Amino acid sequence: MEMVVSLPLFFLPIHKFNVLMKYVNRNYLFKYLLIGIIALFVTSCYSQDGVEDEVGIGAEIESSSRRYKNENFHEVKKLIESNSTGKVKNIILMIGDGMGSAQVFAGITANKGHLNIENCTHTGFSKTSASNGYITDSAAGATAMACGVKTYNGAIGVDASGKPVETILELAEKNGLKTGLVATCRITHATPASFISHQPQRSMYEDIAEDFLHTDIDVFIGGGRGNFSSRKDGKNFLDSLRNYQYTIVTDPDSLKYVKSGKLAGLIHEEDQYRYSEGRGNMLKEATTTALEILDNSENGFFLMIEGSQIDWGGHDNNTGYIIEEMLDFDRAIGQVLAFAERNGETLVIITADHETGGFSIINGDNDTGEVEGAFTTTSHTPVMVPVYAFGPSADTFAGIYENTEIFYKMKEAFGF
Ligand code: MG
Ligand code: ZN
Repeated sequence: MEMVVSLPLFFLPIHKFNVLMKYVNRNYLFKYLLIGIIALFVTSCYSQDGVEDEVGIGAEIESSSRRYKNENFHEVKKLIESNSTGKVKNIILMIGDGMGSAQVFAGITANKGHLNIENCTHTGFSKTSASNGYITDSAAGATAMACGVKTYNGAIGVDASGKPVETILELAEKNGLKTGLVATCRITHATPASFISHQPQRSMYEDIAEDFLHTDIDVFIGGGRGNFSSRKDGKNFLDSLRNYQYTIVTDPDSLKYVKSGKLAGLIHEEDQYRYSEGRGNMLKEATTTALEILDNSENGFFLMIEGSQIDWGGHDNNTGYIIEEMLDFDRAIGQVLAFAERNGETLVIITADHETGGFSIINGDNDTGEVEGAFTTTSHTPVMVPVYAFGPSADTFAGIYENTEIFYKMKEAFGF
């Protein structure tokens, strides 16, 4: 179209244009010839636009990973929060890695207008910066929530000077509660690791695995079996875990048979598959199993559940990857909130460590579940992330605060 607008430029300069028009007015044949040429020129401009759209293969590939039409819808039940002021016996912290507001809303649109997360009664925002960076990584982000300290990017359960800091999970153990960790990546990965381990760098997977043996954790389910069994030091920690009375499950389909005792669910050698490439309903099954094991605790429990790969979809600038992982996470949220509603003494907090991808939504359809996303980066961003809460003490999570406050709010709710 710009070419049509620029067409009169051919007749400049102005004085020459006037001369031309006089000639055109006198010569009808030339006038119609000129109209014909203009018509041909306009037609060719339009058809050229059409051709450009078709041959823009690079642009098509790129936009295909930005557009996604969901076909895997789940039912969302409206819950009634029965007890919002009573005592907190259990806390379930759910972390959607890289889950900003747009990731949640993409999930809402993809699931035709509703997600289970909408049952949360109180919402707030968490500011996620690290001690040494405006933008956090998952290690510093998780350590802030687990320990209540701002630390450097890469730090696992240690403060900015590298000193180990007691985590909410360790505090819960000390107070006689049961504890658990569930993740859709390897269990030694930054987010779950920050709740149980103290290491200067997130890449020290084998040292992080060893830290699991120094705790009394009741259930952990994720990948990363190799960090326990195929180690540089030749030790086999699966044997040690057996000696500590853990049931070891390596097949995700067998998780459902474990109802009590201690469970080490190491269901993949390294990181787990993405939802659509083989992981399937692992998160839902792991959540059911973890709740079953932890629920029979006299003093209550602390459980952290991570939707790990929402972040990876953001790094990939892939709307479909984000949505599949977001919906998978929301199905686990549905189970957790239903448990909390029945139980009445369980505080549920759902949040993120940071946003990934600078993800936004430029189009969508609540009737078909289609979403068109847009990205500003392949890294993390510094924007505040939402915090959703349900159950007793949920009201304390309203407002805008640093991510470290999440630790103090949980500690206070437990009464530690
Ligand atoms: Mg993570
Ligand atoms: Zn990331």
